[in-house]
Amino acid sequence: MTDWNGKPYHSLDYYLKETFGKKVYKLALDGGMTCPNRDGTLGTGGCIFCSAGGSGDFAAARRPSMAQQLEEAKARLKNKLGDRDVSYIAYFQSYTNTYAPLPYLEELFSSVMDFPEIAALSVGTRPDCLPQETIDLLARLNRRRPVWVELGLQTVHEQTARFIRRGYSIDVFYDAFRRLREAGLSVIVHVILGLPGETREMILETVKTMGQLGVDGIKLQLLHVLSGTDLGELYQKEPFPVMELEEYLDLVADCISLLPPEVVIHRISGDGPKRLLLAPLWSANKRLVLNSLTRRLKERGVYQGCALQPSSPIHFPGSVTEP
Ligand code: SF4
Repeated sequence: MTDWNGKPYHSLDYYLKETFGKKVYKLALDGGMTCPNRDGTLGTGGCIFCSAGGSGDFAAARRPSMAQQLEEAKARLKNKLGDRDVSYIAYFQSYTNTYAPLPYLEELFSSVMDFPEIAALSVGTRPDCLPQETIDLLARLNRRRPVWVELGLQTVHEQTARFIRRGYSIDVFYDAFRRLREAGLSVIVHVILGLPGETREMILETVKTMGQLGVDGIKLQLLHVLSGTDLGELYQKEPFPVMELEEYLDLVADCISLLPPEVVIHRISGDGPKRLLLAPLWSANKRLVLNSLTRRLKERGVYQGCALQPSSPIHFPGSVTEP
């Protein structure tokens, strides 16, 4: 396949329309959880690029109810959608959304699934916060409605992982990935393009590895250096090179060429808060970036998977063979 409804890659938009037969929108919800990389369990500063902020207290008591959050999030889309018949993905994005006791998670996620307009549940988390009992819970919920688990891997390279203070090794990721897939859950992996110290080859290796692994979806996120983060502070003291637009366009085209056609590309550009953006400033113009990328893919004749060589899938210690 070389065309997904006019696009040379398997976009999330295409996947959602094919799967649910109508437009589906994400509603960002606050599960009231924190992150072990912020609450002192692993560290207090968080990942070097993270703008989540705060001390990371367990905030369950402070958050509005799910019903209230859903209504507010839907109201924000109302102008755009009018009375169109749409469904929603309940998206727990910020912090680590499995970092809580099991009964709390069960109550939280089940309550969301009780709303008929919720077509799927998407849970952003860390691979080191997925004990088997949590995976079993997500698998049970997955029988009611699709459950996606989003893992912020960023890179397969250990030296970069240490620099960004990710707080877990690649083996932890592989183990969680294997257990999630054995439980029948969809896994979406976040990768950052342009982390300091990474060459183009290193970035492509990360993306290629995810393709070989058989992830269900991937987010290709351009590194945004944001004010208020440790990376931002580093950049302001001693600016390091960030990606130029031209370089980025060719890199994304190469990433797309290396991903198997069935992998859904959930994000292809950055999506950071503009008011905090320190670099690269061109990335604030999302329309320019997307239009330039469309042109570049066309000029180069790139489509998803076009550079794939037949190769064996990756095997991990203790892994089962993927079909
Ligand atoms: S794991 Fe996520 S929430 Fe926690 S510090 Fe890193 S980026 Fe921030």
